[in-house]
Amino acid sequence: KRFTDYPLSEEIRRALDSLGYTTPTEVQTEVIPVALEKRDLVVKSQTGSGKTAAYGIPLCEQVEWNENKPQALILTPTRELALQVNEDITNIGRFKRIKATPLYGRHPFHMQKAELKQRTHIVVGTPGRVLDHIERGSLSLDRISHLVIDEADEMLNMGFIEQVQSIIQALPHNRVTMLFSATFPEDVAKLAHKYMNHPEQIEI
Ligand code: AMP
Repeated sequence: KRFTDYPLSEEIRRALDSLGYTTPTEVQTEVIPVALEKRDLVVKSQTGSGKTAAYGIPLCEQVEWNENKPQALILTPTRELALQVNEDITNIGRFKRIKATPLYGRHPFHMQKAELKQRTHIVVGTPGRVLDHIERGSLSLDRISHLVIDEADEMLNMGFIEQVQSIIQALPHNRVTMLFSATFPEDVAKLAHKYMNHPEQIEI
């Protein structure tokens, strides 16, 4: 398999070329075709497997440039991962001019708020700060069509279950949800069961 086998736009292909990605990793081979069909996905995979691009490529492909409000929300357990994912998404979406915005704690709220006033296609954030922006009215959710829960097990280990649930409950029901986790303890499985629509299960 090569990336040229997928129905991807010229802009995304060029970005993958410039990143030096020619062959999809295992998780990308499994995830990309299903995600391009807008089906819910639960994926068991480790970091380093290429999971960011596995969801980043379909997200960037499906985002409409010509829409002012955020269309995808990616939740990560840590600020470091939020920044890394934000950078990867920016690279994949470069030639489509996709704007990703990272939201995390211990960073001035008003600066993030100002950034959200500009066109943002994809928001990448940690649960506490994302919920802050929702509650204070600076993050609009009504056009969100895609939710990614990355490193779900870590997120719940860090005690974010209530924030994650509050965020999910505030999102439009008509959306695609993808959940990634290295392990599947009871609370992660419950979260997937409660908030996802007959997800395809993939184990790498
Ligand atoms: P991740 O598991 O998302 O943290 O990705 C691990 C590393 O693999 C990152 O440095 C990516 O830039 C790189 N990577 C992801 N997909 C590919 C690919 N298809 N070909 C080459 N490198 C990749």
